[in-house]
Order: sequence, then C-alpha cells, then structure tokens
Amino acid sequence: MSRHSLLAILLVGVVWTTGCLCDVSVLSVRNSLPTGQACGGSLAENLSSGARIYCPGSEEFTNSTQRWSTLDAPTFRLTVEVATENDVVEVVKYANQQNTSFLAVNNAHGAIITTGRVQNGIMIWMRQLDSIKIAEDGQTATFGGGIIDKTVTDGLWAARKQTVTGGCECVSVIGPGLGGGHGFLQGRHGLVSDQFVSLNMVMADGTLQTIDATHELWWAVRGAGHNFGIVTSITSKIYDVKYPQWSFQNFTFTGDKVEALFENINKYLLQNGTQPVDLWHHAFFSQAGIVLYILQEGVEAVSSAYTAPFLALHPVTTFAGTGDYPDLPGWVGWGRYGGTCHNAGLTATTRFPIELQTYDVRATRRVYDLFISTLNEIPALNRSAILLEGYAQQGVKAIPAKDSAYPFRGSNLLVAPVIRFVEGSKELEESAVRLGEALRDIFHESSGVMEKRVYVNYALGTESVGETYGEERWRLRRLRRLKRKWDPEGRFSFYAPIA
Ligand SMILES: Cc1cc2nc3c(=O)[nH]c(=O)nc-3n(C[C@H](O)[C@H](O)[C@H](O)COP(=O)(O)OP(=O)(O)OC[C@H]3O[C@@H](n4cnc5c(N)ncnc54)[C@H](O)[C@@H]3O)c2cc1C
Repeated sequence: MSRHSLLAILLVGVVWTTGCLCDVSVLSVRNSLPTGQACGGSLAENLSSGARIYCPGSEEFTNSTQRWSTLDAPTFRLTVEVATENDVVEVVKYANQQNTSFLAVNNAHGAIITTGRVQNGIMIWMRQLDSIKIAEDGQTATFGGGIIDKTVTDGLWAARKQTVTGGCECVSVIGPGLGGGHGFLQGRHGLVSDQFVSLNMVMADGTLQTIDATHELWWAVRGAGHNFGIVTSITSKIYDVKYPQWSFQNFTFTGDKVEALFENINKYLLQNGTQPVDLWHHAFFSQAGIVLYILQEGVEAVSSAYTAPFLALHPVTTFAGTGDYPDLPGWVGWGRYGGTCHNAGLTATTRFPIELQTYDVRATRRVYDLFISTLNEIPALNRSAILLEGYAQQGVKAIPAKDSAYPFRGSNLLVAPVIRFVEGSKELEESAVRLGEALRDIFHESSGVMEKRVYVNYALGTESVGETYGEERWRLRRLRRLKRKWDPEGRFSFYAPIA
C-alpha cells in the first residue's frame, strides 16, 4: 500500500471519529413500553398517551441515556420521552414536587461536564417534538423543541426554503441555538439564535411562557438560554433559497506544511476577518495529518482564487465535488446516516475551545508539534483532533453585540482541541485535560486578547462564567439578575450555569 493511500484511509477514520458521533435514536423504543412504569410514580397519569417512561434496568432506558461523551455524564433515575408541550410542563412540576433535578435532552451531544451535576435525576427526552410548520407568508417556520438539523434542512428544502442550523445533521437546533449556534449560512443571516422570532418555554416553576422581543428574557435566551427553561417550540425566520448549489474541495497535507498552510488560510480565506460571505473553511489536525475543506456557495467549482494557493503546496490528496445545500454535512463527514453520526457513547470527548481573530502561524506550529508528540507518547489519546473552523461572519457581525447574550460577535475563528479517550484511569484523564489546556493556552497566548473567549456549546465546563458569557461587567450583572429572578432555585443550572 502506498503512503498516500494509507494516509487517506487513516484520515477517513479520523473524519469518522471527529465528526458528529450522534445518533441515539437508532432505537425503536416508541410503543415498546406502556407509560406508568413504577419508577415514574404518579407521573404517568398526567402525561399524554404518546409519552413514554423508561426505567433503569430496561434496554430502552440504557439506550435513551447513551451520550456523545461519557466524561462526567449525568445519571438518571428515569427517562420521560415527552410527546406534547404539556408533557414537559407535567414532568417539570413532578420533578419539582419530588425535589429532583431534571435535564432536557435532544440528541445528547452536550458534552459540557457541568451536566454531570445531575445525579439520579429525570431525563426529559425531547425527540418526539420534531414538528415543522411553515407559516403561510413563507417568512417563518415553527419547529418542535426536539427537532434536529437534518429534519429542518430537509423539511424547508422541500419548500425551497432554508434557515441557519448547526452543520452537523444530528445535532438539535435548540441545543446549539440557545448558546448562539454556528452554521454554514451564518455569513448571510447570523447565528441560529438570530433567527428566533419567539420561543415557547417551560419555566422553572412549570409554567409556560412565550418569549419574544417583548419579553424580559428575550436578550438572555439568545446566548444563555440553557439557563432559563425548556423550549417546546420555536418560531424562526426562514429564507428563500437563492443559491441552491454549493461546491467543495478537500485537501490533505503532511505536518511539514503547517506554516505555509496557515499563512494561506489567513491570506486567501480569512482575509483579515473579512472572509467572503459565500465561503466556509474547516481544517483539522489528527495524528494522520491535516485536512482542509473549502466550501463555496453558488458555484460549480470552488474558485481557483481560493484553491490554487493550496494546490501549490502539493497536498497529499485532493478531491472536489458539487451538489445542493443539503449535501454539505455529508461532504465534511457530518451526515446523519454516515458512520460519523452514530452516538457510540464509548469515549470521553473533551473540548478546549477558544475564539481567535487570525492564525498566529508560529503558535499553530507549536500546537501541531505538541499535539503530535503527545499522541505519540500516549497512544490512548490518538483518536484526538484539533478543529479549526472558519465561518463567514457578516451576518453575525451585522447584529450589535449588546443586543443578545451571545458575547463573541467580533471573533473570526473557532478552534478547539478535541481530546478523546476511553475512560480508564484518572492518570489518563489528567493527561488528556493537561494536553487540551496546554494547546488552548498556546492559542490564547498568541491571540493578544487578555480574556479567553470560549464558545459555550463547546466548553469543557471548567471555564469561568466570564469566559463563556463575556467578561463585560454589564453582561454578567444582567445575566445574574435575570437568573435570580427567573430561576431562583437553579433548576436550569446544569448546562454552563450562570451561577
Ligand atoms: C458532533 C457535534 C457537532 C456539533 N456541531 C455544531 C455546529 O455545527 N454548530 C454549533 O453551534 N454547535 C455544534 N456542536 C455543539 C453543540 O451546540 C452542543 O454540543 C449542543 O449542546 C448540542 O445540543 P443537543 O441538543 O444535540 O445535545 P443535548 O445534550 O441533547 O442538549 C444539550 C443541552 O441543551 C439543553 N437543551 C436541549 N434541548 C433543550 C430544549 N428543548 N430546551 C431547553 N434546553 C434544551 C440542555 O441543557 C442540554 O443539556 C456540535 C457538537 C457535536 C458533538
């Protein structure tokens, strides 16, 4: 086997492990159990006929509680698969009566370790709430609170519409959206949360509220929303599809190209933070080498103005393709039915995100060398990767930063060491965290920015409130005041809690 084909095979394996390891819904548990299992006490009496309760010891319970990352995962004493908005209300009231913590779960991709503070709690499984309804005027659509990206993209596409969702087909819309939510279309329209028109939310006391621009929480739910309630449905802006066609080019490089590669990314793609609105790029490091994807909207092939500088670096492999917008996740290894989208639930997957303005080429070289040398030293970490994501930012920057709780509208790049291992010893876990933090520190030191800016949806969970929600005093004051008022008991203080 040639060195090139071996590298290609290894990289396919890495894409498989770094993309969205998603799907807990491979189970066909609906209708397999009656409601009213013993572990739910009297709860079943108040639930709709479509709701299901799964108790520990059953296969359905085990499957329902599988998560994308095992590290410090929450534990549950029952799963309630809700079927209606009112089911969510009833479960929250029941949990409050029992003084039991609860957690809404869509596709269990939330890997932040603060959710591990839910122990012996109630899992509220949202997946049945996956409806989609386009308004008659074609300007908005209403989605169920458990809907995933692919259902939204495909449902809207059938009507020649689209909106901003996360890139990975099996991540939910609400999970990312409550913390901002990055997606391929954000250059045109802003973040996932920038699309919100209103949200139906079950509050800490079990009451239902509609949160729109007139509500006191409107600012907070767009960036810090996990702290305030459970969303049963959202109405979001949608758009006519103007550019159905997209194209991509993929390159793989060996490690000796780091400097030249990132100089090119800075110069030809990032362009001092003015990356063209029709471009998306994404690179990742793994032990097998470096992969770069460039995607461009509305063209039959990615413009040679972007590809030629990278071809001139003599990639090990390169290939290209074209198709429609719904094809994008599949190209980059984030498709729902590919190997990337299975939620194996077998590994601890820790992320150490930091936002940057540009690549410091020397720091990127140091990151690469430390990453590779540590993986060589500790083979148990060799499924790790470093994600280097470059979204167009025009739509995000067009919205004043003070208008929502999402704090980092000025950032250009989202990078994240993703350190993955099978849990075994404390020593291995400590090595993993040490590596992730050391890599993040190199990026941070080179950024010239005093504070660490950490995307809440990638956060490990050890970061400070200021690092995840923004260091400006007024932001933290406002968030804490709203939290005290709307969730005084801390019922929603498990996913990146404000306090
Ligand atoms: C493979 C992969 C790909 C990703 N791709 C992207 C991406 O393209 N863009 C991006 O911005 N982020 C992305 N992320 C990060 C993602 O935003 C977070 O992991 C997010 O928490 C996942 O949400 P989920 O609903 O799928 O996971 P879950 O674990 O089910 O939910 C995460 C948390 O959200 C809250 N929650 C869930 N549902 C509700 C609800 N209905 N109402 C209120 N709160 C709720 C709960 O606190 C829960 O703990 C990705 C993550 C992974 C693992």
